Amino acid sequence: MKNNPYKAAVKQIKSVLPELEKEFGKSVIKRAFSKLKRPQRLIIKNLIVGKKTYKAYRSQHCDALGPFKGGIRFHPNVTKDEVVALSIWMSIKTALVNIPFGGAKGGVKVDPKKLTNESLKIITKEYVKKIHEYIGPQKDIPAPDVNTNAQTMAWMLDAYEEITGSHAPAAFTGKPILLGGSFGREEATGKGGAIILKNYINKQKLRTRENAIAVQGFGNVGYWFCVYAEELGFKIVLVSDSTGGIYNPQGLDVNKLKLEKDKYGSIFNVCKNSNYKFVKPEDVLSVNCNVLALAALENAVNQKNAKAVKSQVIIELANGPINPNAEKFLSKKNIAILPDILSNSGGVIVSYFEWVQNLYNYRWNLNKVNKELEKILYTSFENVYNLATQKNISFRKSAYIIALKRIIESMILRGRI
Ligand code: NAD
Repeated sequence: MKNNPYKAAVKQIKSVLPELEKEFGKSVIKRAFSKLKRPQRLIIKNLIVGKKTYKAYRSQHCDALGPFKGGIRFHPNVTKDEVVALSIWMSIKTALVNIPFGGAKGGVKVDPKKLTNESLKIITKEYVKKIHEYIGPQKDIPAPDVNTNAQTMAWMLDAYEEITGSHAPAAFTGKPILLGGSFGREEATGKGGAIILKNYINKQKLRTRENAIAVQGFGNVGYWFCVYAEELGFKIVLVSDSTGGIYNPQGLDVNKLKLEKDKYGSIFNVCKNSNYKFVKPEDVLSVNCNVLALAALENAVNQKNAKAVKSQVIIELANGPINPNAEKFLSKKNIAILPDILSNSGGVIVSYFEWVQNLYNYRWNLNKVNKELEKILYTSFENVYNLATQKNISFRKSAYIIALKRIIESMILRGRI
């Protein structure tokens, strides 16, 4: 259980408790921690579809600041501990960027790549049937995550509305535009990451173009991160998926690669059909670059492979991609880590805008979405950067202190602790 994401999440909270004790006192923090280390509600169901049974989860961590909010992933390695960890990180993320949500996460233990679209639709709708009473616009608002997308949300919305008998677009975010989705949501997480990185590079007074970026994970988040990082002047030198990477120190044409990946299905197959320089999955972390962007899954960098990292900066676009032991090692090497709860917050921020638009039955244009997104990201980055500089602590610790202060204060106001 060395790389258990739940243990990592609890360890990250624990690491800032002494700082929080200074503000709230030992006994308040003891009571707060005993609540925050577990979800308020954990729903575990069996989805029986045909002859198969799939384990399904929804973890609702803490709703002191607002309704629960968090994605749903479909993956063969989904576990209870993973879903709970991800729900903890959602609580901390929404508090950090100061939007009125608590944290949740869901998952179904299934490999969608092995299923037909029809089977996937049935499993998705079955999931909603099992959890419908616990979700809704003022209770818990799911969104897409790994291997789920706007289509998944459309199926979920339809199943939910059929059960409840009324339209409720604000019950889900990340929907198709036609069904109430927000302009800018699909690209928001990757775009937000590029904005956070640019802010950091500006603070360090470094030249953007001289920062070569290697990106692990070329799905929704990784791809959009590449697009906006390029737009902001960075050079992408490697992209990878679970089958391997493509490296070019002169820079890659990301849009061309996306089309090729869509055509051939994987980076490995793209390389089989071209002259790109292929990098084996286990060698991706050790390529020469200034910035390593982690946009795949948790525990990508752990005590076994942390030594391989050559970059000076790591931006965490996935949730929990660096485990705490690896982080200790990387910090000793003075590698700056821009933490997940800040770097990938763009998605939940635009999800918040989507929810607001749905509640008012109104639509913002893309320009307004982007402007509001940039404002929140800018303020959140400044808060994290300034506290980290003032206290000489990591960006992660700084972010956790800011977020947990808000959560604990709201728990006190509500009389929960
Ligand atoms: P996705 O399914 O679209 O993409 C995941 C990518 O990671 C795929 O390209 C996959 O091949 C790759 N991958 C998996 N294992 C890998 C490995 N060992 N090495 C290299 N690549 C590997 O998922 P996504 O929506 O892009 O999410 C990626 C991460 O970002 C997840 O941790 C997710 O929780 C997090 N996240 C997503 C959002 C969002 O809005 N989608 C928001 C916040 C955080």
